[in-house]
Amino acid sequence: MEIASFPEVENIHAIALPLLGYSNLITANIYVLGKGPITLIDAGPKFPGAFDFVKEHLHKIGFDFADIDRIIITHGHIDHFGLAKNIQEAAGKQIEFVIHSEDKWRISTQTLNENIWGKESQELMAMVDMPAYEVEKMKNRFSFFKVLCDPLDEVSTIEDNHEFQGNGFHLKVIHTPGHSPGSISLYEPEKKILFSGDHIIKHITPNPLWETRKDKLKDPNYQSLIAYMDSLNKLKQLDVRYVFPGHGEYIEDLPGIIASYTLHHRERMDLVWLALKKEVRPLFHIIDEVFAYVPDGDAFLAISEIMVHLEMLINEKRAELINPGPPALYRAL
Ligand SMILES: [Zn+2]
Repeated sequence: MEIASFPEVENIHAIALPLLGYSNLITANIYVLGKGPITLIDAGPKFPGAFDFVKEHLHKIGFDFADIDRIIITHGHIDHFGLAKNIQEAAGKQIEFVIHSEDKWRISTQTLNENIWGKESQELMAMVDMPAYEVEKMKNRFSFFKVLCDPLDEVSTIEDNHEFQGNGFHLKVIHTPGHSPGSISLYEPEKKILFSGDHIIKHITPNPLWETRKDKLKDPNYQSLIAYMDSLNKLKQLDVRYVFPGHGEYIEDLPGIIASYTLHHRERMDLVWLALKKEVRPLFHIIDEVFAYVPDGDAFLAISEIMVHLEMLINEKRAELINPGPPALYRAL
């Protein structure tokens, strides 16, 4: 699938790495900022052919890996930092890797060497009554992910409002938790561009993911969907000409897409409520009533979505836990 080409903006180039047949993400977008030395926003997955693709496109815009002095990672998922180490090796010099403090643990050797399918995930699966064959599919998928990145340990961390100055650009960090606790967006005020990572994507509604590793959270009361909606509200205030997302096409109508996301989540929340109202069941068994279609092996994502919407229903006193299980049972109110 082709995407519309990105608008011409001085000192900002997009490298849209195709993710053919890999997922519904279409592309992994890497942004190149500055006149040199340059900064990258995200580094793409270590997908076969990805390194050569990035190299070739960097050359086309007149740069080489050695011109990169910094890579800002919008969040700690492998499709955003996977190639970073390869790029540093090719550059033959130190490149500064930067990530928000709350996502730093995700990209470390320790995290990626631990069993990526840990006891927290097992507990969640028992809690929702996921059958063993589905758990197997998920485990395979997780181990496939792991080969798409090299871990990063020497990383600088940033917080909300941090500013980056470069040759020909200026960026302000906006902490936009929800897709992950340490997700950031970056705003270029002069060019009015918002780099949105996976917080805003044109062709899909990004998942505010259920956080299985509650032990890693700074805020023990973190709820991803609430954080996600609050983060959207933060972005509403900005004067934005173009949104440059982590995947797929650029976006012109930021308020429009924020309104559509808000509606989408309200509707999904109502579907979860309706399914529980119809019959009290473990959550795995309501998937088909909440989603029209779930790709094979994506049951974990479906459950994750149900969990974050259920959390919101509980906050709003529209649902309650009636038996902690496992499997847990919830009732619509
Ligand atoms: Zn992503």
